[in-house]
Amino acid sequence: MDFSLSQEHEMLQKMVRDFARREIAPAIKEYDRKAEPMPHSLERMGTLGILGLCFPVRYGGQGMDYISLGLACEELEAVDTHLRVAMSVHTGLCGMTLLQWGTEAQKERFLKPLASGVKLGCGAFTEPGMGSDVAAMQTTARREGDVYILNGEKMWISLASRADYALVTARTNPSPRKPSEALSTFLVDLHAPGVKRGDLHGKLGVRAGSTGWIAFHDVRVPLENRIGEEGEGFKITMTAFDHGRYTVAAGATGIIRACLEASTAYAQTRKTFGKPIAEHQLIQQKIARMAQDYEIARLLYLQVGWLKNLGRRSTLQTSYAKKFATEASFQAAHEAVQIHGAYGFSDEYDVERHLRNARGAIIYEGSSEIQTIIQAEYALGKRADKPLRCELPAYDEAIWQG
Ligand SMILES: Cc1cc2nc3c(=O)[nH]c(=O)nc-3n(C[C@H](O)[C@H](O)[C@H](O)COP(=O)(O)OP(=O)(O)OC[C@H]3O[C@@H](n4cnc5c(N)ncnc54)[C@H](O)[C@@H]3O)c2cc1C
Repeated sequence: MDFSLSQEHEMLQKMVRDFARREIAPAIKEYDRKAEPMPHSLERMGTLGILGLCFPVRYGGQGMDYISLGLACEELEAVDTHLRVAMSVHTGLCGMTLLQWGTEAQKERFLKPLASGVKLGCGAFTEPGMGSDVAAMQTTARREGDVYILNGEKMWISLASRADYALVTARTNPSPRKPSEALSTFLVDLHAPGVKRGDLHGKLGVRAGSTGWIAFHDVRVPLENRIGEEGEGFKITMTAFDHGRYTVAAGATGIIRACLEASTAYAQTRKTFGKPIAEHQLIQQKIARMAQDYEIARLLYLQVGWLKNLGRRSTLQTSYAKKFATEASFQAAHEAVQIHGAYGFSDEYDVERHLRNARGAIIYEGSSEIQTIIQAEYALGKRADKPLRCELPAYDEAIWQG
């Protein structure tokens, strides 16, 4: 088994790290404090190709593999979570789901502008009265000839106010045999008549990013915008979460690393009782835990990237990676604040922002409780991966670069 990264992976890591450190880090505190979306960060990510890393060149992407996506997310979130959130919803939920389930015509028409960063995508599943229980969603899409009439509201949607397209799952069958067969998924043009949207305010974290609501009032969605067959919406949404959760796991790994680096630097300069606090065993214990958790989180998400490259399902491994990394990142940020003492309580240092940002990922893209249920179901033999009509294509360098 080869655990090393390729030269391309390392070059990509450096490019994304340089972008985040040079162009985002100097201004992030200001935008986080103002709780205002940071202007131009997404446009720059599009220009640099970061938004379309793992899509084939013929669909406007960079032709890199799925591990590259994880590496980029780690680098982005080590600086600020809002950048990785954009990757999770634009690339993970929206783009990769189109790559998996879209027809050739849909990939040509929708994936190309998304992968090249010309358009922004998001994933809109959560509603005011529903999050974890996806089959209970109330938004409806009623078919009338060659269009669907979409009505309802989506809530807590990342990039709601910025995106051009949303992958939306809605109820198409009022009396299905099984609840999960009631749903279908659509790529909805957010500039269409009948769409209203806005940002939510007063968030604990991810303050430099957009999180909002989208309301649909008699929005006419053409038949050719339906992704997959009618009734496949639940399965499509679950695979979208597989992709999104992978990026969340990789990003949370970046927070652990950032907290580890900040803590080791601070602990070696701050002195108490005549010596640097790094000399105190209780501080060393916290730092050792961060170092260990970083290594575990990294290996877990890289395993998912490797499975994706092979075209293998990774729902369980993604769940392990997402739950472990998000919980460990919150713990790492909590301990990093502690190591910084009173200074950790102020935004003079980044660790307080990491603490607030890390909290959300334990809730979104499937909370820790939902991940625990998934893991228990696999362990107890109550759940197994069944073949899907469309699988995420395995990475093939010749095809991706061709
Ligand atoms: C910053 C942020 C960004 C987000 N971005 C998006 C996005 O881009 N797109 C999108 O569609 N959604 C997004 N969400 C919404 C997110 O996915 C949901 O918040 C999440 O799925 C949980 O749903 P909920 O908040 O409705 O909680 P609920 O489902 O109401 O759950 C409430 C609590 O009960 C627990 N719970 C639920 N069911 C069970 C059970 N069976 N057993 C034990 N405990 C249970 C949950 O874990 C949670 O702790 C975002 C949320 C946040 C905070």
